[in-house]
Amino acid sequence: MPIGSQPLVSRPLFPARRPGAHNMALIVQKYGGSSVGNPERIKNVAARVAKYRADGHRLVVVVSAMSGVTDGLIKLAKEIMPLPSEREMDVLLATGEQTTIALTAMALHALGVPAASMTGAQAGIVTDGVHTKAKIHNITPKKIHDRLNEGNVVIVAGFQGETPDGAITTLGRGGSDLTAIALAAALEADLCQIYTDVDGVYTTDPRIVPTAKKLTEVSYDEMLELASLGAKVMQSRSVEFAKKFGVIFEVRSSLNDNPGTIVKEESKSMEAVVVRGVALDKNQAKVTIIAVPDRPGVSASVFKALADAAINVDMIVQNVSHGSGKPTTDISFTVEKADLLKAQKVIEGLKATLGFSQATATDGIAKLSIVGVGMRSHSGVAARMFDTLAKDGINIDMISTSEIKVSVVIDAAKGEAAVRSLHKIFIGT
Ligand code: ASP
Ligand code: MG
Repeated sequence: MPIGSQPLVSRPLFPARRPGAHNMALIVQKYGGSSVGNPERIKNVAARVAKYRADGHRLVVVVSAMSGVTDGLIKLAKEIMPLPSEREMDVLLATGEQTTIALTAMALHALGVPAASMTGAQAGIVTDGVHTKAKIHNITPKKIHDRLNEGNVVIVAGFQGETPDGAITTLGRGGSDLTAIALAAALEADLCQIYTDVDGVYTTDPRIVPTAKKLTEVSYDEMLELASLGAKVMQSRSVEFAKKFGVIFEVRSSLNDNPGTIVKEESKSMEAVVVRGVALDKNQAKVTIIAVPDRPGVSASVFKALADAAINVDMIVQNVSHGSGKPTTDISFTVEKADLLKAQKVIEGLKATLGFSQATATDGIAKLSIVGVGMRSHSGVAARMFDTLAKDGINIDMISTSEIKVSVVIDAAKGEAAVRSLHKIFIGT
């Protein structure tokens, strides 16, 4: 079934029709690397799957490589040569998930449950040929259906597919999430559950605010903003995919039976909550270019040079220009910490052509954000945020906003205190 040709809406069972003895459902479950991290955990997964099956459900189970395995394989390859062929990287990386599908199928057999493993290719996942970050073109799940109809639990290797000419591909780091969401869409599953090592999506990092609350539900857009802001629960691409195809899914823990967080399109009732979550991203760094001539084309050349170096720029602030005659301005922007040195080099390289006075760089910053679809219909949210920070004596360095988010750059050392204040004001604990 070609994905994209029609809206593939997985029928929502939430929250009224949780799977139980009375309704038989087709369920896609995904277990991440830590959930299958050792034989004991794989046996736990099998026990959970067996329980759902005993309730009469049909199950397609997507698994990741055991935790650490993909990193280990990458390290091995780099010991052979620094820049291995991407085609061969895919052949190598796909073995991680292939190991887990076989072990998971065996763990089910040990419980007397019929199960069959399938690689991405066998499951009918066809991708483009962009090795190590392939996109799914279409899924022909005929063989999955055949196996299900024979009474099997089907275990599919996450993170992989094949090109139309049969080359093995992988879908980018964290890509097992995408496999699960795409299969849920293609199979029109009743339920899609993403099992991980956290209980769901929280109002903020519980390590910073112990009273942070697990969200019952969150919209796709909020989830995407929270993920990109450092609350990394799932691969962003998979959430975008779920949004596009209307796949409702639940993020929950494989270590207990607590209900998790439902991720779905926003509803009217979601807008009643102004701020869904507070996120802190400490992985940011800032570059400021001081006294750049303020003439057309300057920003264009700065950000083109950064883009050419494959550096992802997040926030940008340009001051009003000062000086008459030959006015100058300051431009600040943020990048990921890992890219700071590279960005600094790129900017230094422009000094002669642009003629700025100096460039400074710091990684002592953090990006602090509040996110919520309710901001679309409530005003004064940013003012309240700034006021709270001011009362705490926290200086705001840069500001950016979207319809459902306000972000500020502040001193990294004050980041956690700021999260606690904002959480208290906006979430109430
Ligand atoms: N094993 C792959 C990774 O570590 C894919 C995944 O876990 O989702 O990135
Ligand atoms: Mg993962």
